[in-house]
Amino acid sequence: MTQPVATSAEIAAAIRTISDFPKPGISFKDITPVLADGRLFAATIDHLIAGFEPGSVDTVVGIDARGFIFAAGAALRLGCGFVPVRKKGKLPYETFEESYDLEYASNTIAIHTDAVKPGSRVLLIDDVLATGGTAAAAAALLQKAGAKILEVVFVIELGFLNGRERLPGQNVRSIVNY
Ligand code: AMP
Repeated sequence: MTQPVATSAEIAAAIRTISDFPKPGISFKDITPVLADGRLFAATIDHLIAGFEPGSVDTVVGIDARGFIFAAGAALRLGCGFVPVRKKGKLPYETFEESYDLEYASNTIAIHTDAVKPGSRVLLIDDVLATGGTAAAAAALLQKAGAKILEVVFVIELGFLNGRERLPGQNVRSIVNY
């Protein structure tokens, strides 16, 4: 496994907090400065896959939309496939669906019914764990597909929102905690 070329503290320092976006009261965690820095982007991917070797994960699943960026990088590093969990109405084939509440909206997400094989070992990735509703819905989708979720990993965890409590029985990890 590659040693990350930057510490989690360096990644944290690059994350920008935007107050009152997209609506009043929300402190939005902007990860675009991390993506724009090749060293920090690569290190973030390596932190996300810490503890996993190529061959130990069958599929990395990323959550719409920023989760795709990190999950795709993780899949490339692990030499496995990438599967998107998308907002309802975006996937063209048959889907499983789950509805959930966000920190600042509500939504329905979907996954192709044949995207993840029953029994496959999955790493589930998103950029931010806030209330946990999105990740819990994604985990429920993967359970419908019969996947074995190895770990649910986030770049950022808003620990004060206790999102982990929505993921009982899952291994949950994050790189930067607020
Ligand atoms: P939740 O379902 O509440 O855990 O919300 C997680 C999802 O909403 C993730 O896909 C994030 O991209 C997004 N999100 C929620 N809160 C924030 C925030 N404060 N900053 C950036 N993204 C957020």
